[in-house]
Amino acid sequence: MTLSATGTYRIAAVPGDGIGKETVAAARKVLDVVAQNEGFTLNWIEYPWGCDYYFETGRMMPVDGITKLAESDAILLGAVGRADVPDHVSLWGLLIPIRRSFDQYVSLRPARLLPGIESPLVPSREALDVSVQAGVLNLLDELQVRLNLAYVFIAHDLSVVRHISHEVAVMYLGRIVEQVTTDKLYENPLHPYTKALISAVPVPDPRIERSRQRILLEGDLPSPLNLPAGCSFKSRCWKSTELCDTLPLLTAHDDHFVACHHPENA
Ligand code: SF4
Repeated sequence: MTLSATGTYRIAAVPGDGIGKETVAAARKVLDVVAQNEGFTLNWIEYPWGCDYYFETGRMMPVDGITKLAESDAILLGAVGRADVPDHVSLWGLLIPIRRSFDQYVSLRPARLLPGIESPLVPSREALDVSVQAGVLNLLDELQVRLNLAYVFIAHDLSVVRHISHEVAVMYLGRIVEQVTTDKLYENPLHPYTKALISAVPVPDPRIERSRQRILLEGDLPSPLNLPAGCSFKSRCWKSTELCDTLPLLTAHDDHFVACHHPENA
């Protein structure tokens, strides 16, 4: 639906559950103002479906719920789910049928604040809602299997990289310093920078996590505009020698590529 078009539009609102119902009411106010300013009209039809409805009727929405929603020009869907209702009920009874029936490709909530705007939904300017992140990753996984896709995925979060990648190229200051399959990278990192990065990844087992030894890098990060001669990592590397004043090239150790004069365990 193009919001700048004139005319009258029928919008289905499903406020969902108490975990965020109020956001739909707030969004409706904003959309009404937009409609007024742009010269079109929104006719709202509210459907009280969700977990309360499930406790009353045994269903998250009526049997003809999707048909009813399909009569609208657009759907405003609120947060769905409650601690006392299992996920397979709330997700498969409402959220997923709606997403699939109407080709919704991502549930993107406020991820970044505009300058000067404060919101309780976003705790910090850089934070991305964790459930959104997990939802996007699961969707990428699903699409990859279904459509046989290849992705080039650029990320700083090594847990995410491990989850989604088959092969990883680690970059430091614009150069690839290590490249190998994901399993081999996490089992046996050869480049000191990769080793330090992986040592920083939290382990979801509290006993291992307590004894995990992080490698804390010391030394200065060179300016990307004025890279030093030789290895860019040498100002922070605990294995640096005079040899590192010459640029290490990406070299194969079997099928494991690393750009380092003194790789780990090679
Ligand atoms: S080439 Fe030298 S400085 Fe660079 S990562 Fe390897 S050991 Fe460290």
